[in-house]
Order: sequence, then structure tokens, then C-alpha cells
Amino acid sequence: MEAESSSQHWNVHKFGGTSLADPDRIRHVAGLVDDMPRPTALVVSAMGGVTDRLLGLAEAAPDAPDDLHARLQGLCDEQRAVVTDLLSGESAAPLLRALDTDVDDLDDVLRATRLMRSAPETVRDLVAGYGELWSARLLAGVLRAEGMSAVSCNAREVLVVEHGRLGPVVDWAATRRRFADWRAGQDADVLVITGFVASTVDGVPTTLGRNGSDYSAAIFAALLGAQALTIWTDTDGVMSADPRYVPDAQTLDSLTYEEAMELAYFGARVIHPRTMAPAIDHEIPITIRNTFAPEKPGTRIHLEGSGDAVVKGFSTIDEVALLNLEGTGMIGVPGIARRLFDALEDHDVSVILISQGSSEHSICYAVPQSQAEEARAATEQAFYAEMDRGQIQRVEVTPNCSILAVIGDRMSGIPGVAATFFGALGDAGVNVRAIAQGSSERNISAVVDGEDAQRALRAAHAGFYLSKRTLSIGVIGAGNVGAALLDQIGDQVERLREEQDIDLRVRGVTTTDAMLRAEQSVDLGDWRAALADGEPADLEAFVDHVQTDYHPHTVLVDCTASDEVARHYEDWLKRGIHVVTPNKRANTASWASYQALKAASRGTRPHYLYETTVGAGLPIIQTLENLTETGDRVQHIEGILSGTLSYLFNAFDGERPFSEILIQAKEAGFTEPDPRDDLSGMDVARKVVILAREMGLRLELSDVTLEGLVPDALRDGTVEEFLERLPEHDETMTDILRTAQAEGKVLRFVGSVKRDGTASVRLRRYPTDHAFARISHTDNIVRFQTDRYRKNPLIVQGPGAGPQVTAAGVFADLLRLMT
Ligand code: ADP
Ligand code: ASP
Ligand code: MG
Repeated sequence: MEAESSSQHWNVHKFGGTSLADPDRIRHVAGLVDDMPRPTALVVSAMGGVTDRLLGLAEAAPDAPDDLHARLQGLCDEQRAVVTDLLSGESAAPLLRALDTDVDDLDDVLRATRLMRSAPETVRDLVAGYGELWSARLLAGVLRAEGMSAVSCNAREVLVVEHGRLGPVVDWAATRRRFADWRAGQDADVLVITGFVASTVDGVPTTLGRNGSDYSAAIFAALLGAQALTIWTDTDGVMSADPRYVPDAQTLDSLTYEEAMELAYFGARVIHPRTMAPAIDHEIPITIRNTFAPEKPGTRIHLEGSGDAVVKGFSTIDEVALLNLEGTGMIGVPGIARRLFDALEDHDVSVILISQGSSEHSICYAVPQSQAEEARAATEQAFYAEMDRGQIQRVEVTPNCSILAVIGDRMSGIPGVAATFFGALGDAGVNVRAIAQGSSERNISAVVDGEDAQRALRAAHAGFYLSKRTLSIGVIGAGNVGAALLDQIGDQVERLREEQDIDLRVRGVTTTDAMLRAEQSVDLGDWRAALADGEPADLEAFVDHVQTDYHPHTVLVDCTASDEVARHYEDWLKRGIHVVTPNKRANTASWASYQALKAASRGTRPHYLYETTVGAGLPIIQTLENLTETGDRVQHIEGILSGTLSYLFNAFDGERPFSEILIQAKEAGFTEPDPRDDLSGMDVARKVVILAREMGLRLELSDVTLEGLVPDALRDGTVEEFLERLPEHDETMTDILRTAQAEGKVLRFVGSVKRDGTASVRLRRYPTDHAFARISHTDNIVRFQTDRYRKNPLIVQGPGAGPQVTAAGVFADLLRLMT
């Protein structure tokens, strides 16, 4: 076949149903066409959904449903509305008249079908093709109305195909002749050609099969000797997997024809597999582009691959049945496979995948679900004798399976691809029923249960495309610490991805009222506003969202002070979710529940990290862990563990009354909203319990001797009353201070726990040269006396409060998960 003379450089563009789904999109396409160099041929699909509806009518017709006519009218009314939306008076009139004729014809066909009580394939093909006809006429009309020289072409009049075993085959000679005849009659430089439809040699209307417009486009590109074929759709190109199922799918820069064909064969409907043949024959490069993002380069499909990823794409074929022919009598008997596949071929069963174990004990093959029974019957018939003699035991049929394929030209030479693939499926708990490697070694496919298909697809994709250090994060609580954490992550996320290959994805934020969920990542530049009009909070749904089967790690960060949230940790850990928190509640609940948490987080994963429950961002828990893990024995831990109380006693030097300092601290935001929560010492007591348990002591909160600073008389009542009456107690406080000063000492509010289990929280006096005396602001300080650090205890000191340092500590815990 010879191509069009090269004096005219044709470009062929195909617009799919998604690109033409409504009047606005059609206007948008017209705009794109206006900017294209000439001459150009446009191959169009039916408007999205129209083919399905037409086929639905043809298939329903034999049963004569009451609403058949109304459905046809409805469809046509919509078409009319689209025409009048896009075109006015004179330009709309011929299109509307043509539509009326079509409706009459369709009505006749459906009536005949009803009478015949069956809808043969020819009828279905005839009816299904109207959508393309309508699109082509409409788009040509719109382009003309915009002043372009456009004409529509009904491919049924030019494209001749024969239906072979493997699908439609183009009769190039006849087609070329008819196309030339058609073109002789017109001189427009924009041809708008119907996709999908064709005729047989006898002139019977037919189609190229579902999604066949891509194939049409390639055929017309070949006929016109086009220099390039562009397929416009609704994704940025061919992606590494169907983006509807794999949110992380990435746009591929380039593919070879073979890779594209294999992906398409395994169900990536972004392009039709047969499209490649005419393109390969004429070496016409194909570009898949997004109609709605024309600035993006798209995916180029051509002869040469590019040197990037070894594995390119993943795809699934759903609704297949797996058959297994099994028998000891098969071993060493030649020709079994051939007999089997001959039998299947005789029954027109299409075999999608074959896998034979090297033991030859069984042959496993997959067929479309709809042909499962036929395939079983064909097999049983073929091996009737062997089954009778007991040489073949059975033909087993497993319905409702899916085939998952991983595709890439360069896979063959690279070790480890299969290991990564099956490893990922194994980690996701997907049961693999059969495995096949294409003879081209361009694909590996696995048969899995249908209900596992999506999980399998995501897991396999993640195995190759996601960093192993990808963390799906859910933040619970967006108060001071939660907010600071989200902002800090937002600032660092890019750098971490680039420099450390750590991919932090905050996929959800929830408060008690509202929550925010994102498939990939919440926009951290704008989470406050988004959360303000988020959906109503639902913790269970939130957790289910954050934990997916394709992120290698999931973590919930509890930035609340809630008992309620803390009660879930054990369950989360048991589900394999890491927990990171500054919330002290879980670690200070009963010993039994603490033990349960520890048990759930033992081993390699998941982790339970709570460094910030004591001393905010200071490395206190970790220091203690390092000491005990290396075999040191901790004798005594003592520390100033409350930033608020640290501040109060640093400031209380006798010049001003204690109440005045407290009120000022409250105004500066250094205290809890009710300062009694600080003064009670309860917060410090909790920290003491956390440290004690970390030392290995079985201590309950009630075991801590707590001498708080809230006068008995002021325990009840409102915050205002408390603040108003606090000066009544200034004298007592001043007396305590004077006594200390008289001894050359300062006052510090300290928590302490000893190896023998005695634990206390109270105001103590320290000489001015003691480490605890030489702190400032809201410093925390912890002193570890151990067997190794006996004389000269180990001290950790630094700012121990405030949202920024606490959030930074939580952030550090998050990163620790990734090491
Ligand atoms: P059109 O109407 O333009 O022919 P289709 O709906 O037939 O569009 O095909 C595009 C769709 O194919 C995408 O929206 C996407 O959901 C699906 N798809 C499946 N696999 C892939 C893949 N690997 N890359 C891109 N899209 C894919
Ligand atoms: N309209 C046809 C279909 O829906 C052909 C196509 O869109 O490519 O299958
Ligand atoms: Mg398509």
C-alpha cells in the first residue's frame, strides 16, 4: 500500500467520547482545531455514553419494553438540544433535519427487531454507529460556523473491513479506492471522520469493536500518509495504571508500540490495541494527549522506547474465569496442549492467558467469564476418553477472577522484577492463582480473585512506583500542636522527597467536628480553610481512609489530649498502623492497657512513638530507652517536667507576688486555659508515670504522691473566681520562698521516681548551684541517675513546652518511622 504524497502533511487527531461529552467540551475542541496546522483530519467518537445507550436500545428491543420508544426519543431530544446549543438557525437546520431522518430509521430498525424477537449483530452494529455519525456532522457544522473549511465523512461509505478470527481486518485496496473517490468531491482542509464504524465488503454496516475509534484514527492516518496521529482523551497521556483505580498513577513520557499494545490488550482502554498495526506499518508516531490540558506534552508512542523505567504500566482484565485441566495421565504425553487449544478454538472460546507448570501435571488457562461454561464443555469433550479412563481427573473452573499484568519492554533482562511484583502482592495479602509470562517477556501476568483485583493493582503499582518510604499520615487534632505539625510538614515535604526519598503524605486531618480527606495529599498550604468546610468528622471512616492497601506505611498522629482517641491505639496498632503522639493519656491509663499497647507494637512494625509526651521535643524517652536497652540500670529520675511551672518558679523571686506572675503567664499563653490544670501537678504526675513505666516499673497514676499547688479552698469554682481569690494565698507562697531563700535555695516544682517505686511530685528546694536552679524561661530538665551515671548524672535540658518544639518532636518521630 502506498501512502499519500508527502507534499501534503496531514495530521490526524482523534477525539474520544470524553472529549465531546457536552456542548462546552465540543466548543473547546473546536478551539483546539482552530489552532491546528492544515490539512488535518479529525476522527471522532460518539459523545460519551451515547454508544452504550444505543446498544442498550438494540439489546432491549427484542423484549419489547414499554419505554423503548421513549428512550430513543429521549436520546434524540438530547442530541437536538446539543445541536441548538452549539448552532443557531440556519446552520442548525440541516443537522436537525438529518437527526429526524435518523430517528425515523432507528425507530424502524427497533420495530423490526421487536418483531424478529432477536437483535442480530448486524442490527446492533448498525444502531451502535449512529453516535459517531452525529458527532462528526455536529463537529463539522460547528467548525464551519467558526469559519473553518470543514466537511464530515461517514466512514461507512469508505472504510471496508472483513471480520476475521482476530477481529476486523481492513481491506486496504477497496478502502483506498473509496476514500479517494470521496475526497475527489470536496476540497475542505479539515475532514471530520466518524470513528468506530465501517462496512463489510458487501456493504453491510459494521463496527471496529468497542473503543474502535482509536483504530479508525490509525487507519485514516495510514490512508493519508499522516506524519503524526494524536489521540485526545481525558488523561494526561498513557498512565502507569488506570487513574480511576490507582490515584498515584503517573503519566508516561513514552512507550514503544509493543508496550502500548500490551497495555491496551490487558485492558488499558486509553488506547485500542489494534491501533498500533497501521501506525507501525507506516511508522507514524502516536501521541496521547489531554483535551483538557493541551499544554501538557502527553505520551509519545513510537518505535524506540526511552531509557526510563523498566516497568511501564499495570493493567487488569476483569471478569475472567480460570480453568484448570489436571491429571497425572498428562505427564509426558505430547500434544495435550495443542488438542486443548484446538478444541477451544473450535468453540470460538478466546483464551486470554495460558500457564503450564513445568511438571506438565496441569494446564491452566483463562477465558472471558461469559465463555466459562463453553470452555469447560469444550475441554471435557476433547478429553472425554482420558477422563473416562481416569488419566485426567477434572476440569476445574474458578469464576470471577481478574488478570493483572505488569508491562515493560526492558523487563526481560532485569532481575528482580518478578520478585518485586509478587512480593508486593504477597505483602498486600493477595492470593495469586496462576502466573504467566508472555513469550515476549514484555509482560508478567497474575490471575487473582476478582475481589482482590483493585488491591492487587494498587499494591503492584506501589511496589514499583512508590518510594518504600512513603507514609500515609492521618493527623487527629488540629489545635496548637496539630496545626504547627501540619505547617512544618508542609514546609519540608518537598525537600524530604527530593533529598531523602521520604514521601510524606498527609492524607487526612480530623478534629472532633470536621475532617478532611484527600486521596493523595491534603493541600498543606490551605488545610485550615479546607478543614473549615470539611465533612462531618467520623473517626472510623477517617482511619479507614488513611490506611490503604498500597501505601507501605500508615501512621495516625494523635495531637489531642483525649482519652477517647487514646483508647483506639491498641486496635490501630493491631491493624498495622503506626501511632505517634504527644498525648499522655494512653501511657498513663491502667498498667494492663499500657502493657497491651507495648505488646501490640513489639517487633519490627508497627511502631508506637511518644517522645513528645515528656519534655516536648527534648530527647527524654529516647535517652531512657537507650540507657535501658544497653543494659544500664536507672536508679532515679528527677526533673522539672512542666514548662509552665518551670516558668513560674523561674520568675518568682519575691519581687512580685505569685498570683501576679501567674496571671501574666496566663495572659502570655504559657498556661492551660484553666491554670489549675498546671498547678495541680497532674500533668507532671502523668509524665512521672510515663518515665517510671519506661524504666520498667509497674506504676499507676494513683501511686504517685502528688502535692499540688492549688489551695483546697480554690479547687472548685470558675477560672475567674480562682484568679480573683488567688492573691489570698500569696502570703503562704511568699513564706515558702523566704524560707528557701534563707537557706540559699530556690524553689522548683519537681517530679521524681526511684527504682524502688517511690514516686512523687512536689515543690522542692535546691541550692543555687544545682543544675535545677540554673534554668531559664520554660526549660525542662531531667536528671538520670543510673549505674553508669552514678556520680555524675546524665542531664537533658532545654525548652520543654510550646507548640513549635512539640510539633518538631512529633515530626522527628514520624521520620524515625522511616529509618
Ligand atoms: P475516550 O472517550 O477519549 O476514548 P476512554 O474513556 O475510552 O476515553 O479512555 C480513557 C480512560 O481510560 C481514562 O479516563 C482512564 O480511566 C482509562 N485508562 C485505563 N488505563 C489507563 C492508562 N494506563 N492510562 C490512562 N488512562 C487509562
Ligand atoms: N463510541 C465507541 C465506543 O464507545 C467507539 C469509541 O469510543 O472509540 O465504544
Ligand atoms: Mg476510548
